[in-house]
Formats: sequence, C-alpha cells, structure tokens
Amino acid sequence: MKVQFKDLFIDGQFVPSKSGRTFATTNPATGQHLADLAEAGVEDVDAAVAAARKAFEGGAWPKMHARERGKLLIRIAERLMARADEVATLETLDNGKPIFESRQIDIPSSADVLFYYGGWADKLTGSTLPLTPDAFQFTLREPVGVVGAITPWNFPLLLAVWKIAPALASGCTVVLKPASLTPLSCLAFGDVCREAGLPPGVLNIVPGPGGTAGQRLIEHPGVDKIAFTGSVEVGKRVAAACAPGLKRLTLELGGKSPNVVFADGDLEAAARGALSGIFYGKGEVCAAGSRLLVEASAHDALVQTIAEKAKKMVAGDPLNPKTRLGSLVSEEQRRSVMGYVEKAQAEGATLVAGGHPTAVNGAGAFHEATIFDGVTPEMTIAREEIFGPVLSVLTFRDEAEAAAIGNATVYGLAAGVWTRDVSKAHRMARVLKAGTVWINTYNFYDPALPFGGFKQSGFGRELGAAALEQYTEQKSVWLKL
Ligand code: NAD
Repeated sequence: MKVQFKDLFIDGQFVPSKSGRTFATTNPATGQHLADLAEAGVEDVDAAVAAARKAFEGGAWPKMHARERGKLLIRIAERLMARADEVATLETLDNGKPIFESRQIDIPSSADVLFYYGGWADKLTGSTLPLTPDAFQFTLREPVGVVGAITPWNFPLLLAVWKIAPALASGCTVVLKPASLTPLSCLAFGDVCREAGLPPGVLNIVPGPGGTAGQRLIEHPGVDKIAFTGSVEVGKRVAAACAPGLKRLTLELGGKSPNVVFADGDLEAAARGALSGIFYGKGEVCAAGSRLLVEASAHDALVQTIAEKAKKMVAGDPLNPKTRLGSLVSEEQRRSVMGYVEKAQAEGATLVAGGHPTAVNGAGAFHEATIFDGVTPEMTIAREEIFGPVLSVLTFRDEAEAAAIGNATVYGLAAGVWTRDVSKAHRMARVLKAGTVWINTYNFYDPALPFGGFKQSGFGRELGAAALEQYTEQKSVWLKL
C-alpha cells in the first residue's frame, strides 16, 4: 500500500516541515521502509499552535452551534468507517498489530468514541443556583482552549481520538503530536477530518521527536492544556514542564495490572481471559493483565492450560486476517522484552511457554507468547512494565493476600477478578487500587466508561462524561438583581 499522507497537517492543509527535514517509518513485521515523513520541529509546532489558537478565538468553530459540532464529529466517525480498510491497513503496517485488531477493534472503537462525544456536544450545561433573592447565580461551562495531545505508539489512532473527540465536543481546538514510530493512521485521520468538513486549524497533526516537537508543545505558552498518554518516565517530565505555567494536565501512564483468579471461578473462562489479557495487542497494552495471580489450589491446572494454549499461539503475518499475534512495534522494543526474559530466568522464575524472539517469513520483530511461573512479588518481571507478550504467574492463598499482592505496585491502571462468589467479587473491586476492575472478563472498554489510573498510572480520566470535565472550565457568574 502506498502511503499518501506524509506531510504535517496544519491549518487544514498538508504541508512539509519548515526545515524540510524528514524521518523514516518502517514496518516492524518486515523491516521494510514504509515512507519518509515530514518531521515537525519547534517552528512547525509553533505554526500548529498559532493555527489552533486562531481557530479557537475566531472563524467558524466558536460560532458553530453546539449541535453542529456534534454532527461534525458524527460525520467524521462515518467517514472514518467508510475508510476503515485504508486506515486499519496503515495502522497494521506501522505498528505490527494484526489486521484483525486494527480493522475490527481499533478503527470501529475510534469511530464509536466520535459517535459518543458527537452526542455530548449539545448537552454540556452549567447550572443555576437559587442562593439569594437579590442575585442570580449560575455557572457556565467553557472550553479550556488549545489542547496539546501527545500519544504513544500502541493504539496510535484510538488513543488520539480518546483526546480529540471530547476536546472537540467541548469546543476546544487541538494540536496532536503522535508517536514517531506510528504516525500514519493519525495523518490519514487528518484527511478524514478535512473530508468531513472540520474547519481549518481545529485539529493539527505534527509528528516529530518527543524531545523537540513534544517538548515544545508542552512548553508552548499558547497551549492551555496537555493530554498525555505514554510512559511514567516521560509523564513525570511532562508534569514538570507543565508546572511553571500551571498548564492543565491529564496523564494516562503505564500499568502492571493484576488479573486475579480464585479457585471458585470459571477456570476455563479465566484461562481465556488470562491469555487475552496479556497477549491481545502483543502485550503492548497499558492495561495488560501482566501479573496473573492464581489461588494456590487452582494453580497447577490453570498454568498447565494456559501454557499449552500459549504454545499454540504462533505469530503470523499481521496483514493475514487469521493472525492473532503480530510483531512488536520495533526491534528496540523486542530487545527490551528479551532483556526482561533473561532477567526473569536469572532471578529464578520458571519458563513454561515461549521465551524466544521469532520471525515470520524470515523477518520482523516478533516474540513468542511467553509465560513465567513461580514469580515472586520482588522479581523484576513482577514489578516493571514489560510492554510485551510476557505473563508473570504468582500464587496466593486467600483474598487478603490476593489484594496485598495485587496492590503491591506503583501502578494502578486496571485489574481483573475471576470468581463465582458475588460478594468476593464486590469486595475485591473495592479493595484493588485501580481505575478499572473487570470481573469475570478482561480488556473491555466503552466510550461511556471513564478510563484512567490510580497512583503512578496517572491522573484525570479519559472517556465518559468524566473526560468532558478535563476539557472545560467552570465559570461562576453572580448577577446582582
Ligand atoms: P513514551 O512515554 O516514550 O512516549 C509517549 C509520547 O510522548 C510519544 O509521542 C513521544 O514522542 C512523546 N515524548 C517523549 N518524550 C517527550 C518529551 N520530553 N516531551 C514531550 N513529549 C515527549 O511512551 P511510548 O513508548 O510511546 O508508549 C508506551 C507507554 O505508554 C507505556 O508505558 C504504556 O503503559 C503507556 N500507555 C498508557 C496508556 C494509558 O491509557 N494509560 C495507554 C497506552 C500506552
């Protein structure tokens, strides 16, 4: 497939970078060069912010009826679905994820988020507060302004849309800096928005290095709010850079989520949930159930089942619709995963499935579906986010120990619980410190359900009505009668 959109998307136009600099993007499943793309530098980010500011302050966007804004989001969703094959293919080529996931999950989910917030645009209200007879007190809800969105490479379009849709529904304008490894789907999305009639400057897209383009976006005085998804390490730097100007900030960061299986659960379903919890998205998923906590009496049978099934999960060509395990996003990411596998063995964990890099048609950054048993909470693979297809199995004796091990992490993004005891399920949902708890399922999302982290998994929430709070300011008005 020929890559069509290679330039920056600024003020409704595809334009080369001012410096003329480009960077290459490659297909991690083949190692083949995909395209040379315009690389945003500081001056391009400045131009994008200026376009977003102009669109926020004047022109069609602030004059538009809120319902028209909503209809526009819905039109973008419809155009995206009409071009779903094209955008999904770009996503798979750039990221290495199976086309099954891009075409059946990422793109339709992105459209759903746009449909959902399209419905919200004309329902954002303030309130009236009857306080004193001599005055009229009420609140206004206003867009926060120009939003700088910075996104990672694992769900390139979906996580961008998680930010763009509520921002636009609220009347904000956006400058998006996608991850340098995977900018293709976002650039195509710029064209989808243009085709749907989004006014110039409302969405601008500037792929480029985090250290320059990203850094300029967070430090730019013309940006009112930063919405960041990425690693804890960079998230902390982003928070520090936002501090001097007290820029509004939401952070969606990493995870080391516990998937807790009690012996009274449906163990067949739990085995499926354990595998999809870690191997969906090649484990490059912030909410991956990367720690499987199993009650001692269920341990042997469950580990045997998942090890057998994992061994049958053979990596395949991501463009083949039957493939369920794709390529990691880059050779560098695979090296990082291999480093964790070595460390796990050195620290005494028992390898029960996978453990090796692999290839498809002799190439690619593929890695086997890997399971370590006998992991203890102190081991590196129980503590650090691997962001790859590596599952750590730990054992617990009772509910209290499950909760203690589950919470023994700096992260708090998600958790899973498998049990037929409804009271135990509720108790665990309360005690686990995580932004999302799945009971008898894993990895389900809906645009209406807020998503975000406790502890170092971040702060603020995306999706749901909660996200609209992050893109609006409340103003109290006191009118003396
Ligand atoms: P990363 O933190 O390296 O990069 C994220 C984005 O930040 C990229 O666009 C990058 O270019 C940019 N960036 C890097 N340095 C920057 C700087 N100094 N200033 C501004 N921007 C900068 O993360 P990644 O490797 O792309 O993605 C993987 C991480 O993202 C994992 O830790 C994962 O858990 C996390 N993640 C979290 C969620 C969530 O919703 N909580 C979702 C997906 C991924």
